[in-house]
Amino acid sequence: SLKSKTAVVTGSTSGIGLAYARAMAAQGANVMINGFGAADAVEAERAKIEADFGVRCAYSPADMTKPDEIAAMVALAEQTFGSVDVLINNAGIQHVDPVENFPLEKWDQIIAINLSSAFHAIRAALPGMKARKWGRIISTASAHSLVASPFKSAYVTAKHGLVGLTKTVALEAAAFGVTANCISPGYVWTPLVENQIPDTMKARGLSRDEVINNVLLAAQPTKQFVTVDQVAAIAVFLCSDAASQITGANLSVDGGWTAA
Ligand code: NAD
Repeated sequence: SLKSKTAVVTGSTSGIGLAYARAMAAQGANVMINGFGAADAVEAERAKIEADFGVRCAYSPADMTKPDEIAAMVALAEQTFGSVDVLINNAGIQHVDPVENFPLEKWDQIIAINLSSAFHAIRAALPGMKARKWGRIISTASAHSLVASPFKSAYVTAKHGLVGLTKTVALEAAAFGVTANCISPGYVWTPLVENQIPDTMKARGLSRDEVINNVLLAAQPTKQFVTVDQVAAIAVFLCSDAASQITGANLSVDGGWTAA
Protein backbone atom coordinates (compact mmCIF):
# COMPACT_ATOMS: atom_id res chain seq x y z
CA SER A 1 0.00 0.00 0.00
CA LEU A 2 1.11 3.56 -0.69
CA LYS A 3 -1.01 5.08 2.06
CA SER A 4 0.46 8.36 3.38
CA LYS A 5 2.84 8.47 0.42
CA THR A 6 2.77 10.92 -2.49
CA ALA A 7 3.13 10.23 -6.19
CA VAL A 8 3.91 12.87 -8.82
CA VAL A 9 3.06 11.78 -12.36
CA THR A 10 4.09 14.01 -15.26
CA GLY A 11 1.90 14.06 -18.36
CA SER A 12 -1.02 12.51 -16.51
CA THR A 13 -4.01 14.36 -17.96
CA SER A 14 -4.54 11.54 -20.47
CA GLY A 15 -3.48 8.11 -21.65
CA ILE A 16 -0.84 6.13 -19.79
CA GLY A 17 -0.13 8.95 -17.30
CA LEU A 18 -3.73 9.14 -16.17
CA ALA A 19 -3.75 5.35 -15.68
CA TYR A 20 -0.59 5.63 -13.54
CA ALA A 21 -2.15 8.42 -11.46
CA ARG A 22 -5.33 6.42 -10.85
CA ALA A 23 -3.34 3.26 -10.05
CA MET A 24 -1.20 5.16 -7.49
CA ALA A 25 -4.39 6.60 -5.93
CA ALA A 26 -5.92 3.12 -5.84
CA GLN A 27 -2.92 2.13 -3.66
CA GLY A 28 -3.78 4.97 -1.28
CA ALA A 29 -1.21 7.55 -2.43
CA ASN A 30 -1.97 11.25 -2.69
CA VAL A 31 -1.28 12.24 -6.25
CA MET A 32 -0.10 15.29 -8.14
CA ILE A 33 -1.24 15.17 -11.73
CA ASN A 34 0.32 17.28 -14.50
CA GLY A 35 -0.15 17.94 -18.19
CA PHE A 36 -2.11 19.99 -20.66
CA GLY A 37 -5.82 19.97 -21.35
CA ALA A 38 -9.02 21.99 -21.04
CA ALA A 39 -9.35 23.34 -17.48
CA ASP A 40 -12.77 21.75 -16.89
CA ALA A 41 -11.65 18.34 -18.19
CA VAL A 42 -8.52 18.38 -16.02
CA GLU A 43 -10.54 19.44 -12.97
CA ALA A 44 -13.04 16.63 -13.65
CA GLU A 45 -10.24 14.01 -13.71
CA ARG A 46 -8.65 15.50 -10.57
CA ALA A 47 -11.95 15.46 -8.65
CA LYS A 48 -12.75 11.93 -9.88
CA ILE A 49 -9.45 10.60 -8.49
CA GLU A 50 -10.33 12.05 -5.06
CA ALA A 51 -13.90 10.73 -5.21
CA ASP A 52 -13.00 7.26 -6.54
CA PHE A 53 -10.10 6.54 -4.18
CA GLY A 54 -10.53 8.77 -1.11
CA VAL A 55 -7.10 10.37 -1.50
CA ARG A 56 -6.03 13.94 -2.16
CA CYS A 57 -5.19 14.93 -5.70
CA ALA A 58 -3.64 18.23 -6.84
CA TYR A 59 -2.88 19.52 -10.31
CA SER A 60 0.30 21.23 -11.53
CA PRO A 61 0.22 22.87 -14.97
CA ALA A 62 4.05 22.81 -15.14
CA ASP A 63 5.38 22.79 -18.71
CA MET A 64 7.93 19.96 -19.03
CA THR A 65 10.06 22.12 -21.35
CA LYS A 66 10.69 24.56 -18.45
CA PRO A 67 13.21 23.45 -15.78
CA ASP A 68 12.06 26.06 -13.25
CA GLU A 69 8.42 24.97 -13.58
CA ILE A 70 9.44 21.32 -13.10
CA ALA A 71 11.31 22.17 -9.89
CA ALA A 72 8.32 24.23 -8.73
CA MET A 73 5.98 21.26 -9.39
CA VAL A 74 8.05 19.01 -7.13
CA ALA A 75 8.25 21.73 -4.46
CA LEU A 76 4.47 22.26 -4.65
CA ALA A 77 3.86 18.53 -4.14
CA GLU A 78 6.21 18.50 -1.13
CA GLN A 79 4.45 21.57 0.33
CA THR A 80 0.95 20.23 -0.34
CA PHE A 81 1.39 16.61 0.72
CA GLY A 82 4.62 16.60 2.80
CA SER A 83 6.82 14.50 0.51
CA VAL A 84 7.37 13.11 -2.97
CA ASP A 85 7.89 9.36 -2.61
CA VAL A 86 7.06 8.17 -6.11
CA LEU A 87 8.06 10.14 -9.21
CA ILE A 88 6.76 8.91 -12.55
CA ASN A 89 8.34 10.64 -15.53
CA ASN A 90 5.81 10.07 -18.27
CA ALA A 91 5.20 13.22 -20.32
CA GLY A 92 6.13 12.64 -23.93
CA ILE A 93 5.45 13.70 -27.48
CA GLN A 94 6.32 12.36 -30.91
CA HIS A 95 7.30 13.84 -34.27
CA VAL A 96 7.90 11.84 -37.43
CA ASP A 97 10.20 13.17 -40.20
CA PRO A 98 13.41 12.10 -41.96
CA VAL A 99 16.46 13.23 -40.03
CA GLU A 100 17.59 15.69 -42.74
CA ASN A 101 14.18 17.43 -42.65
CA PHE A 102 13.60 17.11 -38.91
CA PRO A 103 12.49 20.55 -37.65
CA LEU A 104 15.08 21.92 -35.21
CA GLU A 105 12.42 23.13 -32.79
CA LYS A 106 10.83 19.64 -32.74
CA TRP A 107 14.19 18.06 -31.94
CA ASP A 108 14.71 20.49 -29.03
CA GLN A 109 11.12 20.07 -27.79
CA ILE A 110 11.24 16.26 -27.80
CA ILE A 111 14.63 16.13 -26.07
CA ALA A 112 13.28 18.60 -23.47
CA ILE A 113 9.94 16.88 -22.77
CA ASN A 114 10.87 13.20 -23.26
CA LEU A 115 14.35 13.28 -21.70
CA SER A 116 15.51 16.46 -19.93
CA SER A 117 12.27 16.86 -17.94
CA ALA A 118 13.04 13.54 -16.23
CA PHE A 119 16.50 14.84 -15.23
CA HIS A 120 15.03 18.04 -13.80
CA ALA A 121 12.26 16.21 -11.90
CA ILE A 122 14.65 13.59 -10.51
CA ARG A 123 17.11 16.33 -9.51
CA ALA A 124 14.34 18.05 -7.53
CA ALA A 125 12.73 14.95 -5.97
CA LEU A 126 15.77 12.80 -5.12
CA PRO A 127 17.08 14.76 -2.09
CA GLY A 128 13.81 14.19 -0.18
CA MET A 129 13.70 10.53 -1.16
CA LYS A 130 17.30 9.96 -0.01
CA ALA A 131 16.65 11.78 3.28
CA ARG A 132 13.58 9.61 3.97
CA LYS A 133 15.43 6.45 2.79
CA TRP A 134 12.62 5.43 0.44
CA GLY A 135 11.72 6.35 -3.09
CA ARG A 136 10.55 5.02 -6.43
CA ILE A 137 11.53 6.71 -9.68
CA ILE A 138 9.80 5.28 -12.73
CA SER A 139 10.13 6.59 -16.26
CA THR A 140 8.02 5.64 -19.26
CA ALA A 141 10.55 4.78 -21.93
CA SER A 142 9.37 2.78 -24.94
CA ALA A 143 10.22 -0.14 -27.21
CA HIS A 144 12.08 2.72 -28.90
CA SER A 145 14.49 2.75 -25.95
CA LEU A 146 15.75 -0.62 -27.26
CA VAL A 147 15.21 -0.55 -31.02
CA ALA A 148 14.77 2.24 -33.57
CA SER A 149 12.24 2.98 -36.26
CA PRO A 150 12.99 5.26 -39.21
CA PHE A 151 11.89 8.91 -39.03
CA LYS A 152 11.74 9.03 -35.23
CA SER A 153 15.29 10.30 -34.54
CA ALA A 154 14.46 12.61 -31.63
CA TYR A 155 12.07 10.19 -29.94
CA VAL A 156 14.42 7.20 -30.23
CA THR A 157 17.36 9.32 -28.99
CA ALA A 158 15.38 10.64 -26.02
CA LYS A 159 14.07 7.18 -25.03
CA HIS A 160 17.54 5.57 -25.26
CA GLY A 161 18.84 8.48 -23.14
CA LEU A 162 16.17 7.95 -20.51
CA VAL A 163 17.50 4.43 -19.97
CA GLY A 164 21.04 5.77 -19.41
CA LEU A 165 19.79 8.43 -17.00
CA THR A 166 17.81 5.78 -15.11
CA LYS A 167 20.82 3.45 -14.76
CA THR A 168 22.97 6.32 -13.47
CA VAL A 169 20.38 7.45 -10.92
CA ALA A 170 19.87 3.82 -9.86
CA LEU A 171 23.57 3.56 -8.94
CA GLU A 172 23.64 6.90 -7.12
CA ALA A 173 20.47 6.13 -5.14
CA ALA A 174 20.95 2.41 -4.49
CA ALA A 175 22.21 2.75 -0.92
CA PHE A 176 19.31 5.01 0.06
CA GLY A 177 16.30 2.73 -0.50
CA VAL A 178 15.51 4.51 -3.75
CA THR A 179 15.04 2.56 -6.99
CA ALA A 180 14.97 3.93 -10.53
CA ASN A 181 13.55 1.94 -13.42
CA CYS A 182 12.05 2.32 -16.88
CA ILE A 183 8.89 0.75 -18.26
CA SER A 184 9.03 0.24 -22.02
CA PRO A 185 5.66 -0.23 -23.69
CA GLY A 186 5.04 -1.19 -27.28
CA TYR A 187 1.89 0.11 -28.91
CA VAL A 188 -0.54 1.16 -26.19
CA TRP A 189 -4.24 1.52 -26.81
CA THR A 190 -4.90 5.20 -26.02
CA PRO A 191 -7.59 7.56 -27.38
CA LEU A 192 -4.74 9.11 -29.39
CA VAL A 193 -4.16 5.81 -31.23
CA GLU A 194 -7.84 4.95 -31.55
CA ASN A 195 -8.65 8.32 -33.11
CA GLN A 196 -6.10 7.76 -35.90
CA ILE A 197 -7.82 4.64 -37.20
CA PRO A 198 -10.68 6.15 -39.26
CA ASP A 199 -8.32 8.55 -41.09
CA THR A 200 -5.80 5.79 -41.78
CA MET A 201 -8.61 3.56 -43.14
CA LYS A 202 -9.56 6.33 -45.57
CA ALA A 203 -6.00 7.34 -46.52
CA ARG A 204 -4.86 3.78 -47.26
CA GLY A 205 -8.16 2.23 -48.38
CA LEU A 206 -7.94 -0.42 -45.66
CA SER A 207 -10.44 -2.02 -43.30
CA ARG A 208 -10.28 -1.35 -39.56
CA ASP A 209 -8.70 -4.78 -38.95
CA GLU A 210 -6.11 -4.22 -41.70
CA VAL A 211 -5.13 -0.87 -40.20
CA ILE A 212 -4.75 -2.40 -36.75
CA ASN A 213 -2.80 -5.51 -37.85
CA ASN A 214 -0.83 -4.39 -40.92
CA VAL A 215 -0.11 -0.79 -39.96
CA LEU A 216 -0.32 -0.23 -36.22
CA LEU A 217 0.61 -3.69 -34.95
CA ALA A 218 3.05 -4.69 -37.68
CA ALA A 219 5.86 -4.70 -35.10
CA GLN A 220 3.92 -6.42 -32.31
CA PRO A 221 3.86 -10.26 -32.56
CA THR A 222 0.83 -10.67 -30.27
CA LYS A 223 -1.16 -8.45 -32.67
CA GLN A 224 -2.74 -6.94 -29.61
CA PHE A 225 -2.36 -3.52 -28.08
CA VAL A 226 -0.95 -3.09 -24.62
CA THR A 227 -3.52 -1.44 -22.35
CA VAL A 228 -2.82 1.56 -20.14
CA ASP A 229 -3.83 -0.52 -17.11
CA GLN A 230 -1.23 -3.18 -17.98
CA VAL A 231 1.45 -0.45 -18.00
CA ALA A 232 0.20 1.05 -14.74
CA ALA A 233 0.21 -2.38 -13.05
CA ILE A 234 3.98 -2.59 -13.60
CA ALA A 235 4.42 0.77 -11.86
CA VAL A 236 2.37 -0.50 -8.90
CA PHE A 237 4.59 -3.60 -8.75
CA LEU A 238 7.76 -1.46 -8.89
CA CYS A 239 6.45 0.45 -5.84
CA SER A 240 5.97 -2.76 -3.83
CA ASP A 241 8.42 -4.34 -1.38
CA ALA A 242 8.69 -7.31 -3.75
CA ALA A 243 10.42 -4.99 -6.24
CA SER A 244 12.86 -3.35 -3.83
CA GLN A 245 15.84 -5.11 -5.49
CA ILE A 246 14.80 -4.15 -9.02
CA THR A 247 16.75 -1.03 -9.92
CA GLY A 248 18.37 0.28 -13.07
CA ALA A 249 16.11 -2.04 -15.08
CA ASN A 250 14.11 -1.46 -18.23
CA LEU A 251 10.96 -3.59 -18.17
CA SER A 252 9.36 -4.29 -21.54
CA VAL A 253 5.61 -4.60 -22.03
CA ASP A 254 5.49 -4.76 -25.81
CA GLY A 255 3.73 -7.93 -26.99
CA GLY A 256 7.08 -9.40 -28.08
CA TRP A 257 8.14 -6.44 -30.28
CA THR A 258 11.74 -6.30 -28.99
CA ALA A 259 12.13 -10.09 -28.91
CA ALA A 260 12.19 -10.09 -32.70
P1 NAD B 1 -0.79 11.10 -24.45
O1 NAD B 1 -0.61 12.06 -25.58
O2 NAD B 1 -2.12 10.47 -24.23
O3 NAD B 1 -0.29 11.77 -23.09
C1 NAD B 1 0.83 12.61 -23.01
C2 NAD B 1 0.72 13.45 -21.77
O4 NAD B 1 1.86 14.35 -21.72
C3 NAD B 1 -0.53 14.35 -21.75
O5 NAD B 1 -1.02 14.42 -20.43
C4 NAD B 1 0.03 15.70 -22.20
O6 NAD B 1 -0.74 16.80 -21.75
C5 NAD B 1 1.38 15.66 -21.53
N1 NAD B 1 2.34 16.63 -22.09
C6 NAD B 1 2.72 16.81 -23.37
N2 NAD B 1 3.58 17.83 -23.46
C7 NAD B 1 3.76 18.30 -22.19
C8 NAD B 1 4.54 19.36 -21.62
N3 NAD B 1 5.32 20.16 -22.37
N4 NAD B 1 4.46 19.56 -20.29
C9 NAD B 1 3.66 18.79 -19.51
N5 NAD B 1 2.91 17.78 -19.99
C10 NAD B 1 2.97 17.54 -21.33
O7 NAD B 1 0.33 9.99 -24.73
P2 NAD B 1 0.54 8.54 -24.09
O8 NAD B 1 0.37 7.58 -25.21
O9 NAD B 1 -0.22 8.34 -22.84
O10 NAD B 1 2.11 8.64 -23.76
C11 NAD B 1 2.64 8.80 -22.46
C12 NAD B 1 4.10 8.35 -22.44
O11 NAD B 1 4.16 7.00 -22.88
C13 NAD B 1 5.01 9.14 -23.39
O12 NAD B 1 6.28 9.33 -22.77
C14 NAD B 1 5.15 8.22 -24.58
O13 NAD B 1 6.34 8.44 -25.28
C15 NAD B 1 5.12 6.87 -23.90
N6 NAD B 1 4.77 5.76 -24.78
C16 NAD B 1 3.54 5.70 -25.40
C17 NAD B 1 3.24 4.62 -26.23
C18 NAD B 1 1.92 4.50 -26.96
O14 NAD B 1 1.78 3.62 -27.83
N7 NAD B 1 0.90 5.29 -26.66
C19 NAD B 1 4.20 3.61 -26.42
C20 NAD B 1 5.43 3.70 -25.75
C21 NAD B 1 5.70 4.78 -24.93
